[in-house]
Amino acid sequence: EKADLKASILEVNKTAAKYFYVQLKSERGKQAYTYLKNRELSDETITAFGLGYSNKYSDDLYKYLRQKGYSEDLIRQAGLINTDEKQGVYDKFWNRVIFPIMDVNSRVIGFGGRVMGDAKPKYLNSPETAVFDKSRNLYGLNRARTSKKPYFLLCEGYMDVISLHQAGFTNAVASLGTALTPGHASLIKRYVKEVYLTYDSDEAGTRAALRAVPILRDAGITAKVVRMDPYKDPDEFIKNLGAEEYEKRIGQARNGFMFTLETLEKNYDMNSPEGKTAFLREAAGRLAEFEDELERDNYTEAVASAYRVSVDSLKKLVVKMAVSAG
Ligand code: ATP
Ligand code: MN
Ligand code: MN
Ligand code: MN
Repeated sequence: EKADLKASILEVNKTAAKYFYVQLKSERGKQAYTYLKNRELSDETITAFGLGYSNKYSDDLYKYLRQKGYSEDLIRQAGLINTDEKQGVYDKFWNRVIFPIMDVNSRVIGFGGRVMGDAKPKYLNSPETAVFDKSRNLYGLNRARTSKKPYFLLCEGYMDVISLHQAGFTNAVASLGTALTPGHASLIKRYVKEVYLTYDSDEAGTRAALRAVPILRDAGITAKVVRMDPYKDPDEFIKNLGAEEYEKRIGQARNGFMFTLETLEKNYDMNSPEGKTAFLREAAGRLAEFEDELERDNYTEAVASAYRVSVDSLKKLVVKMAVSAG
C-alpha cells in the first residue's frame, strides 16, 4: 500500500511538473519566462532542468489535476495544495517559478518555487512526503552522477546548481534548503570521494561550510572550500567573472580543516602571544580529534608550518589535549 502511494505521488508530481513547464512556455508564463531569461538561463537549460511556472490563479493546478482524475487526498499527500479557512484549497506554489526536484533516477520527488520579486518567503519547498526525504536527496544529482570529474561541487541553491551546469560544471549539486546531513554525505560517497564546498560567501554560508567539513570527513570524503568573495554565491560569481575565473577558484580551494582554522583564527588576537597561544590550544584540540594517527601527524605539521610554531611543541600540545579530552 505504501508502495502504491509512492508510485501515485510520483505520477501526480510528474503530471504537475509537465503542467508547470507548459505554463512557463505559454502566454500566461511570460513574466516567469522573462524572469529566467533575465537571470541568463538559456532555453536548453530551462528544458534540461524542467523549470516551470505555477500561475497566479491560485487553484489552477489543483483544478487541472482533479480534472485529470487525481484525488484531492493524493494531491494533498504530494504536498501540492494547502487549505486556508477563507480561500479553501489553493496551490502551494501559486505564482512562483518552479524548480522540480528530481531523485537520482530523474523522478520528480518534490518542487521548489521562487517568487519573481522581493516578496517573502523567497523560496517555498515541498514538504517531506512519502517520496521526498530532504536529507537523502541532492538537487542536480541526476545530472551530476554522469560527470567524469572525481569530485562534486556542493552549493546552497537551485540557481547555483543550474548556473554551474550551464557554465559547464556539470558536477554541481545542492542540498535542498537544508544543512548537509550524514545521509547526504553517504549518498555523495557512492559517486565521489572528494567535495568542493562552494557555499555562499556570507556568514551563514561560512557557518554551513564549517559544519559540512566534519560530516563529510566522517563519511570518508575529503572536503575543500572554494571562496566566492567578493560575490555572494556561485551563480553571481559566474555571471560576473565567468567560468574560467571560477575554475581558478577551484584550483585555489582551501583544505577543509585549514579553512576551519582560518575561520576560528578570527576569534583571537593573533598578534599577541596570549591570543596566539589560546588559538593554538583550540587548534590542538581539533587536531586531537583526528582518529587516524598519520592524518593527525600530517595535519599537525601543516598547522605548525602555517602558524610558525615548532612541530614538537604542537605535537605535545595535541597529545595533552587528547588525554584531557579522555
Ligand atoms: P536566488 O539566487 O534565487 O536569490 P539563492 O539560492 O541564492 O537564491 P539563498 O537565499 O542563498 O538563495 O538560499 C539558498 C537556498 O536555500 C535556496 O536555493 C533554497 O533552496 C533555500 N531557501 C532560501 N530561502 C528559503 C526559504 N525562505 N524557505 C525555504 N528554503 C529557502
Ligand atoms: Mn544564502
Ligand atoms: Mn543566488
Ligand atoms: Mn545564495
